[in-house]
Amino acid sequence: MFLQDFITSSDRTEDLKKAVCLLQATIDLTEDGIFAVDSTGKNMIFNQKLIEMWEISKKNLENGEEVNPINLIGKKVKNSKFWFNCLRNALNNPQSTSIDTFYLKNGKIFKTSSQPLYLDNEIVGRTWKFRDITEEEIAQINSKQKRLISQISQRIRESLKLDDILTITANEVRNFLQTDRVVLYEIKSDGRGKIAVESVGLGWRSILGADIYDPCFGEKYIQVYRQGRTSSIDDIYTAKIQPCHAELLQQFQVRSNLVVPILQGDKLWGLLIAHHCRDRRNWKLLEIELLQDLSVHVAIAIQQAILFAKLEKTNQELERIAAIDELTQIANRRKLEHYLHQQWHYAKEKKLYLSLILCDVDYFKYYNDTYGHQAGDDCLQQVAQFLAEIARNTDALVARYGGEEFALVLPNIAAKEAIKIAEDIRKGLAELKLVHARSSVSEYVTMSMGVFCLIPTETMLESELVARADEALYQAKQKGRDRAVLWQK
Ligand code: GH3
Ligand code: MG
Ligand code: MG
Repeated sequence: MFLQDFITSSDRTEDLKKAVCLLQATIDLTEDGIFAVDSTGKNMIFNQKLIEMWEISKKNLENGEEVNPINLIGKKVKNSKFWFNCLRNALNNPQSTSIDTFYLKNGKIFKTSSQPLYLDNEIVGRTWKFRDITEEEIAQINSKQKRLISQISQRIRESLKLDDILTITANEVRNFLQTDRVVLYEIKSDGRGKIAVESVGLGWRSILGADIYDPCFGEKYIQVYRQGRTSSIDDIYTAKIQPCHAELLQQFQVRSNLVVPILQGDKLWGLLIAHHCRDRRNWKLLEIELLQDLSVHVAIAIQQAILFAKLEKTNQELERIAAIDELTQIANRRKLEHYLHQQWHYAKEKKLYLSLILCDVDYFKYYNDTYGHQAGDDCLQQVAQFLAEIARNTDALVARYGGEEFALVLPNIAAKEAIKIAEDIRKGLAELKLVHARSSVSEYVTMSMGVFCLIPTETMLESELVARADEALYQAKQKGRDRAVLWQK
């Protein structure tokens, strides 16, 4: 049975009572707070939920005081003007319906809808319905925040370079906060720090590289952050901070600041600092929380970048070691082969000459036999250093080919010049006068050299380069040692 059916039956007073009773019971069952007013704006009816939602005191009700939700709501919303505007609007436009969101002083968020109340096609008043959407809204804000964090942290983690990570962080945070300056302050193990990176808005001073040593900024100041605390100052002129601290901030044009520690376990890497310069600023809890969350990601990214840099350095060192001959500290055979391969292809592509000189110390077995293996090692070191000196500041590579044999790769060098270089080597070595009493060709250490020169072509094998230089070297030995021979057909 519909309510209007009660009203049309014979005993109207009794029916009306019943109808009102039923109406009240019905609206008390709903999840929304409801009240209705007549066309003069006078309160007609409200439900139990409305009393709970707007915290209308029981006392008011028991005392039989007239409870006017309109005024009560006005007192409890953050923006009462907005509420009264809504009411005025409804009064001026009785046919209108509206949906609005109200933020209450106690932190709750209510979604409100209002519509006209009709009786026999005539507007006789208006109903207001309130739904508590606080939890939904908070969940939405949280998920928005999470999305933002993951977007920013993803951008930060795109690089493994420390500088990039810090720069991206500073820029992203400044962009998010729409503030004037964001810096990352790195704290060294001795407690002193430096601004590692800065993102600064147009018209504000750069403080990158500024010496911000100040007694105020010392150990005591830092200690707070080591414990993981965040600090936010809305206005340095009204905040209870030490004068020296305020002075320091003033120097940097700061009006309001927010400082979040970047912690790696117990270790404080540094601080993420936002400076608002143009005006005072009331840092919102959401902003502070977001920065705190972000600082965890930044700390991890920094740690990874530091580890990666160490790993890269170790790899470079390993690569260097893998390419160096231990005894002579010049390139080893592995490096020689790699370099030859590279140069072979380069010369082939550019149609350039490529020369190779293979050197072999003469009668070196006798040298060892005479002076001992250690002296032999010393001699090889000296020869290697002498060759390295010749190749210095050129594209040439000097390598130990093995035993008492060395190789010189000479990119873009034709035969004539290669022979001249070999001759220079022979003369230079003679001038070193490394005594070798048992050599049959000289009283000093000498070398025989095989020289091969070519412009690599498709039909030629890379291995022929060494093979022919070796053939020429063999000829040099045959012809009496202490000489250079150019390979010829
Ligand atoms: P040739 O003039 O025909 O080249 O005579 P050679 O004695 O130099 O040639 P051979 O191949 O008979 O001997 C090379 C010697 O080089 C033998 C070996 O003991 C010595 N040798 C090779 N590597 C090293 C090294 O690392 N240290 C020292 N001290 N000697 C080495
Ligand atoms: Mg040899
Ligand atoms: Mg030899």
